[in-house]
Formats: sequence, structure tokens, C-alpha cells
Amino acid sequence: MTRSTVGKTPVTLLGLGTMGTALARAWLAADHPLTVWNRTPARAEALAAEGAEAAGSAAGAVTASPLVLVCLLDDASVGAALDGVDLAGKDLVNLTTTTPAEARSRAAWAEERGARYLDGGIMAVPPMIGVSGAGGYVFYSGSRELFERHRDTLAVPAGTTYVGEDPGFAALHDVALLSAMYGMFAGAAHAFALIRREDVDPVAFAPLLRDWITAMAGPSVEQTARQLASGDYTDGVVSRLAMQVAGTPTFLRTADQQGVSPELLTPYFTLMRRRLDLGGGKEDLTGVIDLLAREG
Ligand code: NDP
Repeated sequence: MTRSTVGKTPVTLLGLGTMGTALARAWLAADHPLTVWNRTPARAEALAAEGAEAAGSAAGAVTASPLVLVCLLDDASVGAALDGVDLAGKDLVNLTTTTPAEARSRAAWAEERGARYLDGGIMAVPPMIGVSGAGGYVFYSGSRELFERHRDTLAVPAGTTYVGEDPGFAALHDVALLSAMYGMFAGAAHAFALIRREDVDPVAFAPLLRDWITAMAGPSVEQTARQLASGDYTDGVVSRLAMQVAGTPTFLRTADQQGVSPELLTPYFTLMRRRLDLGGGKEDLTGVIDLLAREG
């Protein structure tokens, strides 16, 4: 241990995939004593050369520090890695991407074993980890006391955003944002497909697409949120659903004429039409959200 590690919280990290390795390097760079474990031991060798302690087993790694972070592939791998490991008295922070229900079950599972539990959802890619100003952050939910106690240590690799005592909320926020991202990617994919066979340079087109998505997304999600909160989906409407539905055949005919499958657009257009048929013509697009919620 070097002089600079004095006063730094010792950290154990299970999982040295791409993300785990980036996290490990951030704590090492910040002089936290670090014990690591990975199912495939070779992935710990480089980190051991950089100053980490490589444990021979998950149980041995857990013993080394009161604060144990986990960053494995999925919830099943967390169960496999920690099966039979004594977690009593440990502060367990699970940064593995899971569903909200899996996070809640994992929290109960950890508490039954005498651990305090905090769940995390990483909103960053590995190159953003440990880079201040890169914009990466982690949603945390579960034990507020555990979050406050380790706040400074958790803030080493990325920003921290605590979203509540319900251990499922970090995963819920994480998956909600990522789901929106895929919808956005789907829209961009359709736009690129439309221009692809024409003499339009995709590199010149990209900033137009980026700026348009950016200009539309922010005001739209804020207006949607206000309407959901008030229950009035006609409040502040600029482009009525009836007008927007009337415009959809133009999008579908353009796709057809450009030889592009409409399969990314039609599910959303179908929902818009259903809401219109239910009488939502004067509303914004917010009513579509109600159609997505399944009964029960
Ligand atoms: P990798 O695929 O690079 O690494 C997966 C890790 O899980 C490895 O350490 C692997 O061990 C381990 N593992 C898989 N199955 C088991 C098992 N049954 N028992 C024990 N260990 C197991 O994934 P990442 O590091 O990229 O991702 C880790 C987590 O971080 C995931 O939940 C991911 O969703 C999340 N995340 C990743 C991001 C990214 O861009 N990479 C972004 C945001 C979140 P072994 O080396 O032995 O195979």
C-alpha cells in the first residue's frame, strides 16, 4: 500500500469485463486499495501489475473489503459468482445491468444474507469511466444510508444520481433511458435508409439529423411530462394528433418510393391512429403512452 492510499476506502470489485476493468482503473488511479476477482483469472493480471490485489476466489475478494462492488454480465452471473459467499456485514453495490424486478429480488437476497444493498445502473460506456467532464454517471437506488456513506468512493469512476430507496429504481431509470435511446436510433436508421440510395452524402446529412433530433427531443419530452402530470393532453398542443395522423401516409409513401421498409415507423403510426380513433385528435402524442400500458 502506498502512502497516498491512507484514508481511502478499500474497494473489492467482482467482474473485470470491459466495464469492470475501466471501473477498477478509476479506483486505482484515485489510490483506493483495490481487490479484484474475475471468473477468468487472466483478466486480473494487468490490474495486479498496476497495483490491485487479485483474489483467487470471489469469497476471498469479498473478505478483503467492507465495500464490495459487482459488475458482471447479468443477474444470473451475480447469483453464480456470489453463491455460497458469506456477505454478512458487507456493503454490496451491484452495478450489473438487470431488470427492476431482478434488482428488487437481489436486494432481498442480499439482505437475507446480512448485507446492505445498493443497486446501480451505469449510464456511460467504458471510455467515459474515470474521465471527469465526460458526462457519465450511475443511477443508484436502495439503501440511502449506504449511498451516503460511500458517496465519495462511488463518485470516483463516474457521477452519482440517487433515485430512491426502492432498489428497482436504478434499473428502471437505466432501462427507461436506454429504451428511449433505441427508439431514437430506430428513427435515425430509417432516416439514413431514406437517403442512402440517393446522391446525398451521409456525412453532410448527419449534422442536420443530429440538430433536428436535439431540437425536437428536449421540448417534446418536457411537454409530455407536463401533460402526464396534469392529465390534460391538449395543454399547449402545437401539432394536433389529427394533423399528424393525416401526414403519416406521406412518410409511408416516401419509404415505399425510396425502397425502404416502413417496419420501424408503422408500430408508432398504428398507435397514433388508434388514439385518434379513440377521440384524441386534439391531443398531443402523449395519449399513445396510455395505449402502451397493459392492463393488470
Ligand atoms: P463483459 O462481457 O466485458 O464482461 C462480463 C463479465 O461478467 C466478465 O467479467 C465475465 O467473466 C463475467 N461473467 C459472465 N458470466 C459469469 C458467470 N456466470 N459467473 C461469473 N462471472 C461471469 O461485460 P461489461 O464489462 O461490458 O459489462 C458488465 C456490466 O456492465 C453489464 O451488466 C453491462 O450491461 C454493464 N454496462 C456495460 C456497458 C458497456 O458499454 N460495456 C455500459 C453500461 C453498463 P469472464 O471474464 O470470466 O467471462
